[in-house]
Amino acid sequence: MADEGEILICPDCAEPVPLPPVAQPGELVECPNCAGLTFRLLERGGTLTWMRVHRVSCPGSDAVVEVLDGTREGTVYHCGGTPYILTYAFGSYALERLAPPPQ
Ligand SMILES: [Zn+2]
Repeated sequence: MADEGEILICPDCAEPVPLPPVAQPGELVECPNCAGLTFRLLERGGTLTWMRVHRVSCPGSDAVVEVLDGTREGTVYHCGGTPYILTYAFGSYALERLAPPPQ
């Protein structure tokens, strides 16, 4: 009810996560209790909501790819011009090189 700023409840630790004073859609917010757990703020139907963001390291470089929670397996990401396919196993996402390296 109040306009005290929206509170994001971390789905992992169930602790409230403070949002920036002027939270804008597109901003990234990290849970201070869960290392590496990040949320991206989104606007949906005029209200601010959020989605969990998974940070997936690219197997071919040190780059970290952001994957929104709920992204389907098989989605193709490009990193450094190389296509990688998204896989999901045991609760976490990973990237696998789409094509085998040339012999
Ligand atoms: Zn948390």
